[in-house]
Amino acid sequence: IQKKLNLLKNNTHNTANSLLESLALELAAKVDTKIANGETIGLLEGIPFGIKDVYMLQGTYTTASSNLLKHYKSAYTATAIQKLLDAGAIPIVKENCDSFGHGSSSENTIFGAVKNAINPELVGGGSSGGSAVNVAKDYTIFSIGGDTGGSIRQPAGYNKIYGLKPTYGRVSRYGLMAYASSTDCVGPLAKSIEDIRIVLNVMSGKDPKDQTSIESEIISENTIADKGSIKTVGYFKNFIENDAIDTQIKNDFLASIEKIKAKGFTVKALDFFKSDILVSTYYTLAMAETASNLSRLDGTNYGNRIEAENLKESYAVTRSENFSEETKRRIVGGNQVLSQGFSDEIYLKGLALRDQISENFNNDFEEVDVIISPVTPNTPPKIGDSLKDPLAMYLSDAYTVGFSLGQLPTLTIPQGTSTGLQITAAKNNDAYVLQFANLLK
Ligand code: GLN
Repeated sequence: IQKKLNLLKNNTHNTANSLLESLALELAAKVDTKIANGETIGLLEGIPFGIKDVYMLQGTYTTASSNLLKHYKSAYTATAIQKLLDAGAIPIVKENCDSFGHGSSSENTIFGAVKNAINPELVGGGSSGGSAVNVAKDYTIFSIGGDTGGSIRQPAGYNKIYGLKPTYGRVSRYGLMAYASSTDCVGPLAKSIEDIRIVLNVMSGKDPKDQTSIESEIISENTIADKGSIKTVGYFKNFIENDAIDTQIKNDFLASIEKIKAKGFTVKALDFFKSDILVSTYYTLAMAETASNLSRLDGTNYGNRIEAENLKESYAVTRSENFSEETKRRIVGGNQVLSQGFSDEIYLKGLALRDQISENFNNDFEEVDVIISPVTPNTPPKIGDSLKDPLAMYLSDAYTVGFSLGQLPTLTIPQGTSTGLQITAAKNNDAYVLQFANLLK
């Protein structure tokens, strides 16, 4: 634990917002005592992990990488994190990310841009960039990210590790700072399918504190090793046959298809929404939800309050001064799509499109067992580039956001030299994505 803390302390990738040194050492000492007494310890006991800085862990800073919450300390602990603590895992770091999950590069942060684990001139990906880089660099054994529209899967891809967005609701969102509540998911990033499985099992389950959480079955080692149930694999033609996709990523993906065919699976091309429709639907709903969710951050109950002549003025200054440009863009955009005169044309249309997208997925899973896709159309940008062109950044989420709208389980696995391969299954069939990843090994 001390070694990992030192690595984090000296790291030049800007992955750590705060270190949990005293807590970690205290927990480690307890595990040491157990071992010294000859007691058997659990699978996760003593294992160091990182937490994206949007999860509550009582008594620790939870900043969302934002100026507004720079000095905020959690008053309680998130359910998922509590379950990991109960299993004996040791939290060592609160990890840098895009502020409130707003972004795809981990540059929208007051703690400095997260640098890619493989090439530090490039972005670490986002929004769970610090979490992905920490795992890739072996600073943590696993990290807990948050995925609203790709934030676990995309940084996992950019840093060539595994990252799972479980079925929506499989892991309780209680204690995860809300971005877009209808697609927010809690999930692990790690270096192996087995680690993903173990951590997912520990965190899963219905929680009375999150009404959208669901009961689920434990995924056993045997289930993952099963070779029989997956026969047909689908992919979306629209994702591959367009000009936006990087040639290397396309070639790697086509090579994956050949490999999958060679293993005896049937591969089917599927029709789907154009990726720009997925991006516009997702951003309409995500901005609307975040405008609503972040309205509570006015400096009264939480955050750096800036005093002014009257209360209303104080709210305005507190929010204007403390939110980042990207977060303000989303709040303004979200309030616009929700406002009278726009909501019928934009927000309600977005809701209707989301239903159609889900319906389409349901039909697809009548025909295929899993769907594969690239994680991103582009390779990781240079640090600084995404900030100049937010629209290009939104469009880079083209392949991840659809599965979020569908609330489907999706896993990123490393693929060739590019930004990873996504494996998606029908709702609640999280076991399939792990099983198929195992079959591709
Ligand atoms: N990049 C997407 C966004 O900015 C997804 C982020 C996320 O999943 N938190 O909304």
